[in-house]
Amino acid sequence: MNVIPMWYFPDTKRLDAEKLLQAEGNKHGSFLIRECESQPGELSMSVLDEGKVKHYKIKRSDNGHYFVSKRRTFITLKELVEYYSTTEDGLCVRLTQPCRKATAPQTHGLSYNTADQWEIPRSSICLLRKLGSGQFGEVYEGLWNSTTAVAVKTLRQGSMNSQDFLREAQIMKKLRHPKLIQLYAVCTVGEPIYIITELMTHGSLLEYLQKDRGEFVGMPDQVEMGAQVAAGMAYLEIQNYIHRDLAARNVLVGDNNTCKVADFGLARVFNSEGDGVYDYEDNEDERVYEMRQGTKLPIKWTAPEGLHDNKFTIKSDVWSFGILLYEIMTFGQTPYPTLTNFQVMQRLRTNYRMPCPANCPKRIYDIMMECWKDSPPDRPTFETLQWKLEEFYDVDISEYDDTNSY
Ligand code: ATP
Repeated sequence: MNVIPMWYFPDTKRLDAEKLLQAEGNKHGSFLIRECESQPGELSMSVLDEGKVKHYKIKRSDNGHYFVSKRRTFITLKELVEYYSTTEDGLCVRLTQPCRKATAPQTHGLSYNTADQWEIPRSSICLLRKLGSGQFGEVYEGLWNSTTAVAVKTLRQGSMNSQDFLREAQIMKKLRHPKLIQLYAVCTVGEPIYIITELMTHGSLLEYLQKDRGEFVGMPDQVEMGAQVAAGMAYLEIQNYIHRDLAARNVLVGDNNTCKVADFGLARVFNSEGDGVYDYEDNEDERVYEMRQGTKLPIKWTAPEGLHDNKFTIKSDVWSFGILLYEIMTFGQTPYPTLTNFQVMQRLRTNYRMPCPANCPKRIYDIMMECWKDSPPDRPTFETLQWKLEEFYDVDISEYDDTNSY
């Protein structure tokens, strides 16, 4: 009978491997070998080194042998593990013990308690302090039932039709992923409508990056943030759900640079005001959405087919993701910094794209450019974007090997 080795974690993504290894019970040299769901056959070894996790690609030679470094190949993974358990031989640390498997059940926070009863009484929410405001209302830190810390989004009167919102909220509540802000409950009886979600300690990614300016957040963190957003979006992609307003202002940050995508689906239900006249006037507040045929659009984040034909798909979200990557790499600079919204509309028609930002690795810029391909089907999927960013810093020792050595 084939016994699955303790260190083999199939279908485990890079970020999940990091969480597992950094959990209690593991020690220096704890490790696991994972096969990535999105890239069948691709193996990586994740190893805990002084509290940090390093990832190594495990490759296969022409005759099917496994190796981390070409200098030494193994017929089986078990032999590879046994070898690196006796010596580091190029790894950061000698392998010590297989990663412990998670046993604690995942919690769903407040949403669990409100599974069948997600319209909650307004009186059960106490607003504590204002966290910020967006164009449709204000956001507060609040306490639900005097026990659970939550974020409460209060929607300005008339900003949406409550029937439309309720329909959308039904769907939003079912979308559950560690990289998506969980919708917990709503108060739609009376005004203003409350949207109650999980609370994120550091607020929006845009403000977080603008405040930091590279002091604590470095390139690996920036790439990792991009990977987290791509992971949340890859989930929406398989759920056939479109965000429509992906931007750094709609990503929220928690402890340890944890990023989660917020406000998905809301863009669809917001009421537009005005007469639908084109209005590309530049506004001091660059976030302000422009009007077009009864729809409000964040011009600098919107794909050409959205701007010109009002067409929104997951591929237009991919375009916006490219802009969001630009925001991440520039610590929250406004995209197309020298152009007005109107100029952006015009320049996109002539295939203009933003140049590579200063200090941005060429490989990341290449990813942005892929997202900004003119033809939507040519843009990558979020699944691909996720693994490209997750594997960005994986160590490929074999690249540094003497190619003649085996
Ligand atoms: P817009 O509504 O125009 O898209 P926005 O996304 O910045 O802009 P809101 O979603 O209303 O506006 O959020 C306003 C601010 O409140 C955010 O910038 C963020 O700092 C804070 N905030 C929103 N949601 C949360 C949350 N769940 N946890 C912590 N802070 C939050």
